[in-house]
Amino acid sequence: MMPGEVFPMKIAFLGLGAMGYPMAANLSRNHEVTVWNRTPEVARRHAGEHGTTFADSLDQCATADVVISIVPTSAEVAELARIVTAAGLRSGVLWMDMTSGDPQTSRATAAGLEEKGIRFVDAPVTGGTPGAEAGTLTIMIGGSAEDFERAREICASMGTRIVHVGAIGAGHAVKAVNNAMLAANLWAAAEGLLSLKALGLDLEKALEVINSGSGRSNASENLLPSRIIGGEWPLTFKLALLDKDVRIAASMAHSQHLATPLIGLTSTLFTAALKELGAGADYMEVAKFVTSLNGERWPGEKSS
Ligand code: NDP
Repeated sequence: MMPGEVFPMKIAFLGLGAMGYPMAANLSRNHEVTVWNRTPEVARRHAGEHGTTFADSLDQCATADVVISIVPTSAEVAELARIVTAAGLRSGVLWMDMTSGDPQTSRATAAGLEEKGIRFVDAPVTGGTPGAEAGTLTIMIGGSAEDFERAREICASMGTRIVHVGAIGAGHAVKAVNNAMLAANLWAAAEGLLSLKALGLDLEKALEVINSGSGRSNASENLLPSRIIGGEWPLTFKLALLDKDVRIAASMAHSQHLATPLIGLTSTLFTAALKELGAGADYMEVAKFVTSLNGERWPGEKSS
């Protein structure tokens, strides 16, 4: 093989949602990818668009060398692992779970797979749908050093920064904390900007200052301006999924007997927003919840 050349692997990809769909497309440029999705039409469309192989049953995924899952939570991953293993998944296969899951359930799933000689890494991602489409995700991997090396080669088709963060479950732990920090920053930025708006100040000018100052965050720099000023509120990441991540972070801290009131409060606020906005809401709509608590609206917010 030439330097930089990729050894093509036989990969089964389970879960073609907002993230999985473009990730599987990028993977298929270097590997032989079979796609399965709970709603089969999505997998059929993927095969037509990207030359992947459509699987209408999980049994067809049992002949893969590598299985990748990216579904809402670790509970669905556990169920998929049970079904694909029962279908005859071979010893020596690597299962890469790219869901933002929880460490405890992942360790239990990994232990069940290990009984059949199947290796497991948790490999959640950050970078959102733009990163998934561009193949520039950051991928944090929990697992053995040997399994990390196998996973790294495959991840190179989907991401640019691939970090071994510890043993099984460590990837999910880092991801949960990353997203709890995103959630807290988002809420704080929304409250702060609302108070500036209430003073009658120009939010564009305020953001110009904040984003070159020490209060800036991904929320203030990249996420909020196009929504609260530009009026674009696309659905890219379900609020229900971010709420799940913050709950995982809160439960990790709780189980270690740590006093982490800010993570706990963030979790409570996101759950309240989710109950109000509903399961179909995008995570950025919490900024609308912050205004609605105060009978206000953002300049770019239409009446609902
Ligand atoms: P989506 O809701 O867009 O997609 C979810 C996927 O999981 C779909 O393929 C869905 O199938 C499938 N699914 C849902 N329930 C089940 C089930 N019971 N059994 C099998 N498959 C099921 O989610 P995302 O792609 O946004 O997120 C996937 C994971 O990635 C989550 O853990 C999320 O937290 C994480 N993530 C998301 C990011 C984002 O920006 N969106 C960024 C980083 C991580 P169907 O088509 O039938 O509904």
